[in-house]
Order: sequence, then C-alpha cells, then structure tokens
Amino acid sequence: MKFDLAIVGAGVLGSFAALEALKSGKRVLLLDAGLKARGATVRNFGQLVPSGMALGPWRALGIRSLSIYRQLQPMVEGALWQQGSTYIASTPEEAALLEEMHAIDRAQDYRSQLLSVEQCLEKMPALRMEYCHGGLHYPEEMSAESGQLMPRLWSLLSANPELTLRAGTLVREIRERGGITDILTSNNEVLHADQVLICCGHQLNQLYPAITQNAQMKLCKLQMLRSEPVIGTRLPGNLLTGLSIRRYEAFHSCPSYEKLPQPLLDPRYGELGIHMLFRQSADGSIIIGDSHEYFPANDVTSIDYEVREDINQLMLEEARNILKLPRWTMARCWNGYYSQDMSEQKVLMRSVSEKIHLVTGIGGKGMTTGPALVQSAVQQLLRGEALTLPDVHSHA
Ligand SMILES: Cc1cc2nc3c(=O)[nH]c(=O)nc-3n(C[C@H](O)[C@H](O)[C@H](O)COP(=O)(O)OP(=O)(O)OC[C@H]3O[C@@H](n4cnc5c(N)ncnc54)[C@H](O)[C@@H]3O)c2cc1C
Repeated sequence: MKFDLAIVGAGVLGSFAALEALKSGKRVLLLDAGLKARGATVRNFGQLVPSGMALGPWRALGIRSLSIYRQLQPMVEGALWQQGSTYIASTPEEAALLEEMHAIDRAQDYRSQLLSVEQCLEKMPALRMEYCHGGLHYPEEMSAESGQLMPRLWSLLSANPELTLRAGTLVREIRERGGITDILTSNNEVLHADQVLICCGHQLNQLYPAITQNAQMKLCKLQMLRSEPVIGTRLPGNLLTGLSIRRYEAFHSCPSYEKLPQPLLDPRYGELGIHMLFRQSADGSIIIGDSHEYFPANDVTSIDYEVREDINQLMLEEARNILKLPRWTMARCWNGYYSQDMSEQKVLMRSVSEKIHLVTGIGGKGMTTGPALVQSAVQQLLRGEALTLPDVHSHA
C-alpha cells in the first residue's frame, strides 16, 4: 500500500500534522519509535501561551494554534482547558513592562487585562504579597495536560480508517525511488509514501544528520518538578513570573526591556536558564520549573542525563519566594529535552527534496505554536511547495 503522506515522529508536531492531513482527505502513515509518546511533548508544562512568543509570526502561530486546540477540546475531554495565563511582576520595573505589553496587546487586538496587586492576590491567594507588584492576565490562553492529551490524540487519529499508526517503529532510512519514497524501519520493513514529513524532536542523529546537526542547532535539557497534590490551594491556568517576563521573547519588544535592571538573584539562576513557571493539574499537584542547559546538536550523547539536585533546590528556593504553599513535598522530578534552532527562523523547517521534508528544532514553543506551524507545513507540501515559515500576521 502507498500512503499519501508518511510522518516520522508522533510528538505534538507529527500528531497535529497527521490531523491536518486527514482533514485534507489524505491517507496517512504515522510512525513513532516509542510505543507511547515519550518525548518533549509529554514532559512539558502544557502552557499554551502565545502571549510569551516573539511578536510577528510566532505569536500569530500561537493564536492560531489556540483555535486548533479549541476545536479539539471536546474530543479529548479533561486534557485541554481554558483558564488563561497570568504573568506576575516581582519588581516595579517588571510591572512597567507588563503595562507596556498590555498597550502592545491592545494595538494588536489580543485580549489582556492588567491586574493590580489586590486583584492578583484575589485570583491567587497563594501568591506572596511581598513578591507581587502587579500582573497581566490573558483570558483566552489554554493549558494542556500533555500526558493525557497525547494518548487521547493518538486514539482519535487511529480511529480514522485513513490513518495507520505504527508505534514502536523506528525509521532508520528514507530513500527516493522513481517518484515515491521508501521508508525503511528497524524491523526491516519497507513502507511507501508520496511524501514524507520528519518531526523527530531532538533525535537528530538518525535521519539527515548532515542537515539537522548544523552549527545553529542546539539541544536543551530542562528540569521539572511536580508537587504532591496541594489541597485547598488553587492556581488557575498558567502562572508565569518575573524571571519569565525577562526571558520570554514577546517582552523584548517592550520599550523598557533593555533598561531592566538585573534581578537581585544568585547568578546561577541566569547561568542555568532558570525561570519560574507553575501549572496546577486537576488532582491539585503543581508542576514547577524550569531550567535550561544547552549542548551542541552534533553530539547527542553529550546531553547530561542526570537530574541535578542543585538545580532543583534553586528552583524550589525561588518558588517559595513566590508562593506560600501549606506543604512543599515534591512527588516527582524529571528531565525533558528538545532541539532548538537558534537561527533567525527559530525552527528547522526545510524540504530535503521534493518528497522529503523536515520540521524540528522548535525549542520551548512547540506546544504553543506547533499545531498551526505543522498545519501550514502540511498544506505547503500537499500543494507541492518547498517548506517555509508561514507569513502570518500577529493580529488576533
Ligand atoms: C520540560 C519542558 C517543558 C516545556 N514546556 C512547554 C510549554 O509549557 N509550552 C510550550 O509551548 N512548549 C513547551 N515545551 C516545548 C515543547 O514540549 C516542544 O517544543 C515540543 O513538544 C516538541 O515536539 P516535537 O514533536 O518536535 O518533539 P517530541 O515530542 O520530542 O517528539 C518527537 C518524536 O519523534 C520520534 N522519533 C524521532 N526520531 C524517530 C525515528 N527515526 N523514527 C521514529 N520515530 C522517531 C520520537 O520517538 C518522539 O516521539 C517544553 C519542553 C520541555 C522539555
């Protein structure tokens, strides 16, 4: 059997690409090395935050992705919800940045609402008053319980007779032969498709390493914590804090960004790329993170596999400055990895040939922007075009 489109990798990028190709009536083969999604897509916060994306195409892709998630929401009950995102400023200067961002949002017709200290504390009584200098709330933004979203999405895709899901199947080579492509798996099978889209996450050493392991690609290791369920504390939606205001690219467009004084924190926070985000799950547990350590893309084996306790302690120390919780017992900690294209395009989106295409290196914005990015990629390749970053506008 020959498929219209084969997709290698069924994380958020590959799975939403499959969804889009099915909507276009195509016969799709979706392959993943894992029996379940195990990559960055299920290790993340699940914060769907266009507000933090660089203004221009990335924020626009985030906003478009929200509408894709909204359409999916009734079919993956409990795995996606809309309670907004709230940024909390920890200094008067960060609060000024939030005001500037609110003005930008208004000019771009993207809904946000400035919150006074009192409003922040009313919304989230667990916030420490001494930390909070005001907030900015985005009511339309969503959250995903990624570990639940992905199995539901895989089942939904598999229920479509036009999709063949091959979990537990590593693709080791792709060959072009007389207008079709042969996909060679580690089980020595050969499958056939008109077009192939590779969404391999940070596994850059398997397919087309000469392209993916380029000098502008980096691998990133992140550390995350999950608390025991915290009963009686409610943190609605996505909570982002002062260090995130400094880190997220959207805020680089604020007039005062360059004038922000350095945070009064141990320099290790900056060195380890730590910024504090929180998201509470339905059982009351809170995901706390994260840190960012970078490694060269051309040596996948160089990634550190250990959970560093010093990083966990730094994150918890700052988390305690932000929130007052009745207990700080951590139930789990884990690492996540992604590849990140550091070029101006901020993603590796490239056609290797007329038939074989790559989308990876999306970094820390894949959950937020991935669905709309691959929607565009699939439409481009079905039209027979070479892949390019879509020219979308930032207006909501
Ligand atoms: C800790 C952490 C927190 C994050 N938080 C957020 C957040 O809150 N919001 C946000 O927007 N983004 C967040 N991100 C980023 C986001 O998770 C990633 O950008 C996104 O998941 C990348 O998706 P992907 O499909 O490219 O990769 P992956 O999810 O890694 O999927 C790639 C898949 O390809 C498969 N594969 C690779 N090679 C082959 C092969 N040869 N054959 C078969 N299968 C193959 C792998 O098995 C894997 O399942 C976070 C990331 C991490 C790690």
